[in-house]
Amino acid sequence: MIIGSHVHFNEEQFLGAVKEAVSYDANAFMFYTGAPQNTKRSKINKEYIEKGLKLMQENNISLDNVIVHAPYIINLANKEKIESWDFSISFLKNELKRCDELNVKYLVLHPGSSVKYTKEEGINNIIEALNIVLNEKYNCMILLETMAGKGSEVGSNLEELKTIITNVSTKIGICLDTCHLNDAGYNLDNFSNFLEEFSKILDLNLIKCIHINDSKNVLGSHKDRHENIGYGTIGFNNLLNIVNNSKLKDVPKILETPYVNKDDNSKELLYPPYKFEIDMLKKGIFNNNLKDNIRDYYK
Ligand code: FE
Ligand code: FE
Ligand code: ZN
Repeated sequence: MIIGSHVHFNEEQFLGAVKEAVSYDANAFMFYTGAPQNTKRSKINKEYIEKGLKLMQENNISLDNVIVHAPYIINLANKEKIESWDFSISFLKNELKRCDELNVKYLVLHPGSSVKYTKEEGINNIIEALNIVLNEKYNCMILLETMAGKGSEVGSNLEELKTIITNVSTKIGICLDTCHLNDAGYNLDNFSNFLEEFSKILDLNLIKCIHINDSKNVLGSHKDRHENIGYGTIGFNNLLNIVNNSKLKDVPKILETPYVNKDDNSKELLYPPYKFEIDMLKKGIFNNNLKDNIRDYYK
């Protein structure tokens, strides 16, 4: 099973990300190359890359299973303020360059929100922007993430993603997100059925990453609030089926589930759940003491 989680990229940058992944017994990981909500980016440190690669080798982690997530302030769908749209384009180019420096093969991108534009116009704005970005060649491939359909988000149905993919000059892929699929209205009770539906629209080989999250909300709610594995409306067995699906066995599975609070009365989310959620999925047995086990381990 190729499984890991979101990790940090701070003082020790790439090396720190690998260390954190190793601490969760993960063989895959994903990070933002800076804060997700802003575009401040520090220079990539080469020494940390070398040390990180060495640590990956020692722990049998392949570069195929390392993902970068683009900051969510990039919005290619909205052209209302042309300076912002241009900035999103140049920032995305820069992010792809950083991925190439880091030897990272996949960059996950939210397609964008159309805001005052219609969906169709938003989709055209995305296509235009991606074709500008991909005028230059990068080793790193962009993966469009399936979205929950919150507000005016583009990408909550597979047809929209197909329109983008078929009109972009360079090959781009897909990142499934289980919480987003559920919230968008795709029932994951029978994942084989979903994959069959997917394969009628898009090639299954385009799926290069899967975000594994439970959802706090019901099917089709268009909310996008992640829940810990087995504690939401998708449920443990459905998520277990997804991570064990033979057609997607080489695709890295990345957890983006919420941190656990200090105690039930605290709003402060302190402890990462990933070590325990990864263990639970590898063993295939639901742990109904997950939060207490996490608190005991980290406190
Ligand atoms: Fe995302
Ligand atoms: Fe996601
Ligand atoms: Zn989400």
